[in-house]
Formats: sequence, C-alpha cells, structure tokens
Amino acid sequence: MNGITHFLVGIVIVLVVWHYFSDEWAENKEWAKRKVFSIKKRPVRVASILRVSIASIAAFFSHVLVDGFAIFTYHPWWDQYPLVNQISKPLMLISAGIVAFIALKKDIRYAWGIIFSAAFDLWDHSTLNVIMKLNPSLDLTPLYLHQFEWAFINTFLWWAPNFYQEPLAIIVEVVIIAILLISWGILIKKWPLPENKEIQPRLYLLVFVFILFALWFALDSII
Ligand SMILES: [Zn+2]
Repeated sequence: MNGITHFLVGIVIVLVVWHYFSDEWAENKEWAKRKVFSIKKRPVRVASILRVSIASIAAFFSHVLVDGFAIFTYHPWWDQYPLVNQISKPLMLISAGIVAFIALKKDIRYAWGIIFSAAFDLWDHSTLNVIMKLNPSLDLTPLYLHQFEWAFINTFLWWAPNFYQEPLAIIVEVVIIAILLISWGILIKKWPLPENKEIQPRLYLLVFVFILFALWFALDSII
C-alpha cells in the first residue's frame, strides 16, 4: 500500500505498545526497571528497550500484512502509470510526508513505528533497486524483503481477487487511511504517550533528518 498507510499503522503500533509496556506496567517488576545505560544522565531501563524493540519489530512485520492486503486496493505496477495513478501517487506521497512530519513534531518516539513500517520499501525500492539501476549486472532481487509479502499472499490470500489494476479500488485504501486516522485520534486521547520533552529534538534537526529520509524514499524515482 501507500507510505501513508504504513506510517499510520506504525503510529498506532507505537501508541498501543507504549500503553501496554508503560512505566506503570514496569512498576512492580524489578527486571523491567533495571537500568541498562544512560544517555545525558537519563537512565535507559529494560522497559524502554522492550517498548522500542516490540514497536519496531511489530511495525517492521506489519508491512507484510499491509502490503499483502493491498491486493484489494489500486496498486498498479511501477511502470504502469495511468491517469488516476498520476494524480493519486503524488497526493498519497504528499499526505504521507505531512502525516510523518506532524507525528514526529508531536513526539519523536513515533519514529520507531514510522521508519520500521516503511523499512521494506526503504530497503527494496530505495536501496536495492537503486544499486541495481546504477549497476545493472547485479541481481539483488533474492534480498528483497517483499518476498515475505508474496509468501503471505500465496499462503493466505491465493484465493482472493486482485484489484491492483482497478482505479476505483483506491477507495478501499482511502477508507483504511480514514479508519487509521480516527484510531490515532482516539488512541492519542485514550492512551497518550507519557510526556517527555527532553527527548524531543530541536525543529531544525528534525527538518534536516526528515529531508534526508524523504530523499532516500524518493531515490528510486529520482535516479
Ligand atoms: Zn511495500
């Protein structure tokens, strides 16, 4: 599916994981409260490392399910760009950028969900494909992470009709995006991330890293 859908799934995962593995949850668990190391005199405890790891791994593998279910959405191949795709692709990309920036500006901890939810695309499209374009004699396709997605479709969704080429099926993804945005709104009120202004980077640093990532994302289209 489009980047915005992956990002929103990653954002929701962060809120759910931070809720279930909160500091209150770690309160009466000696092992979870244990300090592992310190950053700027702030102790980093087992519970924090657990939260980051679970959220990142869940966001990473969420890509398999989200892209797997993309067969029910409009998802033309890269070299096929009919009119609807020429309009929808840039719109989806811009909204993905806006959603990612708003989330990261609000709380940098969303980065675990956002980056790992898109890791498959960053690796396959923006890294392996770019290397293969620069050096056509190399075949790096056996390293594609999207193989997990294809295995998922072949195992669980082999029976399902494929809507990749059906422009109207974009409505399915728009509805999924709307549901995820509403879920984010509800969760942010119900299970807000605990206040921690110290770890929020300065705006100029956030903008700089954001632009670097955006360029990395766009690298296969640029080259
Ligand atoms: Zn993907």
